[in-house]
Amino acid sequence: MTARETRSTCPYCGVGCGVVIESDGARITGVRGDPEHPANFGRLCTKGSTLHLTAAAPVIRQARLLGPQRRAHRGATPQPVGWDAALDEAADRFADLIGRHGPDAVGFYVSGQLLTEDYYVFNKLAKGLIGTNNIDTNSRLCMSSAVAGYKQTLGADAPPACYDDVNHAELIFIAGANPAHAHPVLFRRIEDARRANPQLRLVVADPRRTETGAMADLHLPLLPGTDVALFHGLLHLLLWDGRIDHGYIERHTHGFEALKATVRDYTPREVARICGIDEAALVQAAQWFGASRATLSLYCQGLNQSTSGTAKNAALVNLHLATGQIGRPGAGPFSLTGQPNAMGGREVGGLANLLSAHRDQANPEHRAEVARLWGVPDVPATPGRTAVEMFEAAARGEIKALWIACTNPAQSLPDQRTVHRALERCEFVVVQEAFAGTATASYADLLLPATTWGEKDGTVTNSERRISRVRPAVPPPGQARHDWQVAVDFARRLEARLPRRRTDGATLFPYETPEAIWNEHRESTRGRDLDITGMSYAMLERAPQQWPLPEGASHGRARLYEDGRFPTPDGRARFADVKYAPVAEPRDARYPFSLTTGRLRDQWHGMSRTGMLGRLFGHVAEPAVELHARDMARLGLRDGDLVHVASRRGALVLPARTSGEVAPAQAWIPMHWGEEFLSGCSESGEPVYGVNALTTPACCPHSRQPELKHAAVRIAKAELP
Ligand code: SF4
Repeated sequence: MTARETRSTCPYCGVGCGVVIESDGARITGVRGDPEHPANFGRLCTKGSTLHLTAAAPVIRQARLLGPQRRAHRGATPQPVGWDAALDEAADRFADLIGRHGPDAVGFYVSGQLLTEDYYVFNKLAKGLIGTNNIDTNSRLCMSSAVAGYKQTLGADAPPACYDDVNHAELIFIAGANPAHAHPVLFRRIEDARRANPQLRLVVADPRRTETGAMADLHLPLLPGTDVALFHGLLHLLLWDGRIDHGYIERHTHGFEALKATVRDYTPREVARICGIDEAALVQAAQWFGASRATLSLYCQGLNQSTSGTAKNAALVNLHLATGQIGRPGAGPFSLTGQPNAMGGREVGGLANLLSAHRDQANPEHRAEVARLWGVPDVPATPGRTAVEMFEAAARGEIKALWIACTNPAQSLPDQRTVHRALERCEFVVVQEAFAGTATASYADLLLPATTWGEKDGTVTNSERRISRVRPAVPPPGQARHDWQVAVDFARRLEARLPRRRTDGATLFPYETPEAIWNEHRESTRGRDLDITGMSYAMLERAPQQWPLPEGASHGRARLYEDGRFPTPDGRARFADVKYAPVAEPRDARYPFSLTTGRLRDQWHGMSRTGMLGRLFGHVAEPAVELHARDMARLGLRDGDLVHVASRRGALVLPARTSGEVAPAQAWIPMHWGEEFLSGCSESGEPVYGVNALTTPACCPHSRQPELKHAAVRIAKAELP
């Protein structure tokens, strides 16, 4: 068959690189970077450039779920079942549980891997048809603190900068991010910019001296969780040095006086003590920040995955507002998204506290607007359960049915003991997945086969607000269906069984194509900060576009707030008068190590795709806990020795390795390995898997994002029988 080329988007990270998929029409045979895509201009990282191998490898094809399966009872081997029977059963069970216990007895846990169209249908299904806000996503684990931080300060969840700003910056300040591994193509762009402009400075604030930190002109190895103190310390010094833009503050903001009073206490000596850094390094960072005419801050999970996540984000935005470093080329606070479509999920309101087009579930006017758009009586006022809360409620028996799409909470959520109890206790669990072998799939009463990259059709939005098409190169294998189709087919069945439906009797889910869904989503954005009423699939066929792009505009906007007006009632940004608070679980004599978790360069999430390709283990072959040489010596360890790592929630046994990246009394474990490689037990003896056996479910009170970046652990050489 003739070779075919299909332009699409990489499914791994929020950089959102364009790819050209080569296929013979039946099988994917190759992939290369799309030279015309503005996110990557033809470049791909190791993960992106091996996508075709992960699609075609026999072991991966064997791992695909090819038809619906049903378990007669928990522990039974799943048996094939037809789509109609599977979806009828799902609709019967959901309708029965909703009828007996109310709409909040069910929940949906979805994923930043879903396309925007998939997300839209699931959100409407939960909030519009069933009448529950119990829909949340693994994006809660990734960027909900960034959402809350932007809204608290700038008035809307809209990253103001773009990738091109890397080329205009004089200072790039990276906080709590390791783009060299987590956003590699963006990092290549930073390297290029530094080569082109030797004056461009790079400052990295991160407890670990990562590959990104090692390249910096200045690395600030702050103690985990102390970012608010660091940012306030910088602001204190900027005030002291007269590097504040009082004109910008006067014209475009509110609340600076209160913040100024707060940061008075964050003296260099006090900040150096809290953060565990040199006072001189702090002063140097402040001088560079103050002298720079264009500062771009890039940040990710180190800020977000924290009980102070919202405060950390807001404190960093404060720095940009105080110096007027926003809305200009090369300047702005720019949060990076981890997943390929975390942004799209935010846009359609696919989280428990959000509604379509950046509306808030807690706002009665917003609920009424969305109810009108959907043609339903109302959107429920009862707050929905966020990720951790949803599984805690299921473990208590309050949520009785869970629909899990395209994610693996039995590995990725913190405090795995509670998550596994929740899945065991749930009366009905549906898992919609491309891969059969995830830890979560083993709890499914119904397993529904979904399509994946190379087969899917729709759109995603990357970190810089750029919407790109995802196009199918090959047909779905077996009986696999697109995620939006599964949601629509289920929703139509449920409509027939529930009293909550449109008053005119029409279906809420009339979609036959992803474009029809996207058009409805597009209309919901009219007049909102992310207005895309001027965008269409036809326009996206020609090139990806950034939002906003309202009706009449010919292209999207690269930067926001260039006129100094913000989407707040009075058009002014607001300084957030936040305070530093320590991590939820400080180190102590019993648990003397600070554990952080994170990504490796060549693996993705729970490795359902990347873990099946041998060459991606060339970088790091096996899980290990990384420790400072001093701690290795103190514990009598040599590289490869097995150690017992225990937190208050569980324990794991894994090899230890000396690392120059971690500081004394700190430990680092990659997040990727799950039950096949990394098992242990909870304090009460239940089996637990992966690093999240150790992590804490403590969440930021504003964003409800869990503190995956810090847990107190103890480490000892494992006693082997
Ligand atoms: Fe894919 Fe991210 Fe790599 Fe780009 S940087 S190829 S989006 S994983």
